[in-house]
Amino acid sequence: MGRNKKWDGYTSWSYLAPDVDYAAYPLEGQVDRVPAHDFGLSKAQEERVEEIIEKNIVVSLHEHLNVFPAGPVSARTRRRPFVGYEGMAASGCDVIFDNCVCSTLDQVVSFMGMRNCDYAHQDFAVPALKIDDITRAFREGKVAIVQTIEQASAIDRDVDKVDLLFGLGVRSMGIVYSESNTLGSGLSELGDGGLTDVGYDAVKRMNKTGVIIDASHAGDRTAMETVLASEKPLCISHVGSRTLTNNARMLPDEVLQACAERGGVVGLEVAGFAPRTEKNPEASIECLLEHMEYLMELLGADHVGAGPDTLWGDHAGLYRGAPKGEVRQRLGTGHHPRRRPSEMPEIFDSGEMVRDLDYVKGLESPSEFTNIARGLVRDGYSDQEIAKVMGLNGLRVIKACWPK
Ligand SMILES: [Zn+2]
Repeated sequence: MGRNKKWDGYTSWSYLAPDVDYAAYPLEGQVDRVPAHDFGLSKAQEERVEEIIEKNIVVSLHEHLNVFPAGPVSARTRRRPFVGYEGMAASGCDVIFDNCVCSTLDQVVSFMGMRNCDYAHQDFAVPALKIDDITRAFREGKVAIVQTIEQASAIDRDVDKVDLLFGLGVRSMGIVYSESNTLGSGLSELGDGGLTDVGYDAVKRMNKTGVIIDASHAGDRTAMETVLASEKPLCISHVGSRTLTNNARMLPDEVLQACAERGGVVGLEVAGFAPRTEKNPEASIECLLEHMEYLMELLGADHVGAGPDTLWGDHAGLYRGAPKGEVRQRLGTGHHPRRRPSEMPEIFDSGEMVRDLDYVKGLESPSEFTNIARGLVRDGYSDQEIAKVMGLNGLRVIKACWPK
């Protein structure tokens, strides 16, 4: 459907009275918040981009639809999440995987309940429960939301909770976040025990129930064992190749190849400072394009997608907020004060890289999602290859996993 989306201007909670029913606070702008990136495309090339976006189902494999506050706000006030409808309407996306990072069942239920309450008061963002919801959204100029939990910690040791969460609308689950859970080991741990027995059973249940499986934040061994255990293709939604960027947030090529060999899709991310490369040391869409082009060569155009994860608002502020050298290491309560052995890749590159991060040039927010197609047109890819990367590969995995 491209850019002719049918957003009627609804904003989150506008059926309530601000400062009566909830504490209001100013939000970041959703479009044109930073200078536009110029790819230097000709008019004909721009028309090609628009046509690809218009004709094909476009899928972002990893986002968080929350709009950031424009200034400091207490966590208590922020409790009510605002969905970025305006940015969604400008994104060119027909399908967006919206991620809840919560770890407990209570938190996931609160998140899902608030989201679904908000969605129930509008007609533009449609929680996708069946494939039909996606094709209808595409036809009608709406956006289909794939409700995703970024880690399956909420199931604890009870695989029946996979069905419970599916019943609430969850259609995609990460096995584990960066810290380990009952299913497996996360990328920030020093040890990686692989997929646990509970994790193995959960993978099998997700296959049977129809949940798309993600392994983006898993340790290398856990990620590989998840890929091998799953009978359905995976969507490793927001990651990159460790060959280009040597940090733990990326995965080794062997894991990405195993995912591709089983029909899966690898979404490239660009959030914060994770995927910077030697050739592209600055945070920009070029980092994502470099990873994307490397993986299109390695895995084939059928197995690459995009999950930028760049949020709505100053997401770089999340990374800048931590003092140098302490980024995401979270040493202290509940964490071993151990150093990573020198042979292990750092979780991210270095504190130094965070300091110069003002925003991600060309892909700062999901409203710049179609810049990925611009970069691929500039770099000489065919319409068919670009359409696959922009959504058709993700759609294929959705169809392979969800119930008919
Ligand atoms: Zn993530």
